[in-house]
Amino acid sequence: MLCETGESSGAGVAMIGVLGGTFDPVHYGHLRTALEVVEHFGLSTLRLIPGNVPPHRQQPVASPQQRLAMLQLAIAQEPCLQADDRELRREGYSYSFDTLASLRQEIGQEMPLLFTLGFDAFLKFQDWHRWNEILAQTHLVVVQRPGYSLPPAGWYESRLSTDPNELCSTPAGRIYPFAVTALDISATRLRDTLRLGHNPRYLLPDSVLDYIHTHQLYCRI
Ligand code: ATP
Repeated sequence: MLCETGESSGAGVAMIGVLGGTFDPVHYGHLRTALEVVEHFGLSTLRLIPGNVPPHRQQPVASPQQRLAMLQLAIAQEPCLQADDRELRREGYSYSFDTLASLRQEIGQEMPLLFTLGFDAFLKFQDWHRWNEILAQTHLVVVQRPGYSLPPAGWYESRLSTDPNELCSTPAGRIYPFAVTALDISATRLRDTLRLGHNPRYLLPDSVLDYIHTHQLYCRI
């Protein structure tokens, strides 16, 4: 579906998507989600933004530069997906609030922004730094992820939207649940697979797997 409102910008409306994450390593669960959000909303660009120091979880295994390099390899053939290294250039915790504030400085206050996150991340959203203010900066596209479901009612009910055009015509503030192709893939499971000496091919791009082997990442202890 393409949004009917908004200014045209090449392939789609003038609106950008964001998918933040640790990407340790990037896998088809991230990539398929990103592409389906692009197509559903007719976005010209979705930026994948790896975090430097994630505030809510264990530190990543691969270095920031390695995670960025894997991301760049993974999206090399898909021009509407872009790697954005702004969190890696920032010292300290990678708060989404700060990232969105810096994006807003670039794109202004009027352009709709779609921050994409999985059900698992959304369930902890109220623990995020300045979460309420995040909703003043962006919409949330909450994508289904196998093994997780949303409670039928909650704090977010008044913000729920099922109309993509509503998101295209306002800069921020709506929460849009979105059923993407269910891929039960996680970076944790990929790291475990590699650590055990098993083969994770077909769960992530070959180019990323080659990089992992070349740099001996996540290998057996
Ligand atoms: P880990 O297992 O190390 O926690 P992960 O696979 O969950 O990693 P992240 O980089 O933490 O990957 O995820 C970034 C974002 O992508 C999060 O919002 C997460 O919910 C979403 N995501 C990750 N994997 C999937 C998937 N298979 N399907 C849909 N969304 C996903």
